[in-house]
Amino acid sequence: MRYPHLKKSLLAFFLMGLSLTALSREKIRHALVIHGGAGVMSETTMTPDMRNEYKRVLRIALHTGDSVLASGGTCLDAVEKTIMVLEDSPLFNAGKGAVFNHDGICELDASLMYGKDRSAGAVAGIKDIKNPISLARTVMEKSEHVLLTGAGASAFAVEHGFKKVPNSYFQTENRYKQLQELQNKEREAGINDKHGTVGCVALDQYGNLAAGTSTGGMTNKKYGRIGDSPIIGAGTWADNQTCGISCTGHGEYYIRLGFARDIAAMMEYRGWNLETACDEEIGKLTKMGGTGGVIALDKEGNISMKFNTSGMFRGYIRSDGTQYVGIFSGE
Ligand code: ASP
Repeated sequence: MRYPHLKKSLLAFFLMGLSLTALSREKIRHALVIHGGAGVMSETTMTPDMRNEYKRVLRIALHTGDSVLASGGTCLDAVEKTIMVLEDSPLFNAGKGAVFNHDGICELDASLMYGKDRSAGAVAGIKDIKNPISLARTVMEKSEHVLLTGAGASAFAVEHGFKKVPNSYFQTENRYKQLQELQNKEREAGINDKHGTVGCVALDQYGNLAAGTSTGGMTNKKYGRIGDSPIIGAGTWADNQTCGISCTGHGEYYIRLGFARDIAAMMEYRGWNLETACDEEIGKLTKMGGTGGVIALDKEGNISMKFNTSGMFRGYIRSDGTQYVGIFSGE
């Protein structure tokens, strides 16, 4: 050998490369990603106190789901418990703090899907059940149906031990003001006030994915309007082969695009990765004139959080210790 030291350093370089690859490929055992709605959010109008409060609750939600996953719980438990934290917070447009419809009451939609066998449950137009995400799970596990609405969904809830709450439980002063403002057309766009759904996607240590979404819909909605959030394939999707998805934004566009399923289809049929598929779908949304965002997670623990608005409440946490919480774009 004419250059023995060269051979040695090449070998060392090769081994170093191997270990770096191994490190960067450290298997993600479990992961969880959330959103709390996308919309027009201004860094100048949202005070530091408000930002901190939103981030504080997002972190509580993330840690709630993470502790379920870290202690061996399933992705379904993690998604349900995480979304319940966001539903119980008046800050987000889901459960308590949901937006008002045209008639001045709250009507809630939610859905949940399990990636292992594509089982799914959803509810729409709920007026009296505290945590719609739990009801969606019960529809999935205890009924032969996928989507229940209104009075029928409430009757099913009572049969399965849910306690009713008065509609006033969901109503907050702040959301009422938003309705009045919108109805008086004092605010032209009002997008920030109309959006604000919550969602969660989780990967558990058994390799299963689940996704859930919960919302009050859009302020001033009329005629029993139902958005994308309880529509499997539009606002929510999960299958272990591709990914889990939860959406937020102007629901009519998401339904027309078959948004969530379309991302999974691009991965399944074109072999695209999560990031590319989410980018493509947000591009389609923008082209169509819709606004909103999406969170997505695949079985390797890759995460994508995309939106075409000025902000989206969002965050993730993974078993390798990586975590993040953000509000505005570029943050
Ligand atoms: N997508 C929800 C709906 O259209 C609203 C939102 O995400 O803000 O009902």
